[in-house]
Amino acid sequence: MLNIIHEICDLCGTCVSVCPFDALELFENRLKLKEENCTQCLLCLNVCPLHAIEEDSE
Ligand code: SF4
Ligand code: SF4
Repeated sequence: MLNIIHEICDLCGTCVSVCPFDALELFENRLKLKEENCTQCLLCLNVCPLHAIEEDSE
């Protein structure tokens, strides 16, 4: 699963745009992951300019 580091994320929305599975959304000034949609393709992780998304080891 992915871990969003909210302290780093500046809500730029880049990851939301690239996710092919509509698994990320900006809601009330917070980036949210819809885990049921996420396929772990890691596109979002690779495009985030601030490295605010990381893979959770669990
Ligand atoms: S890992 Fe892939 S499916 Fe999951 S949120 Fe990121 S871009 Fe979307
Ligand atoms: S690309 Fe990175 S900084 Fe931008 S909204 Fe996504 S997690 Fe936050």
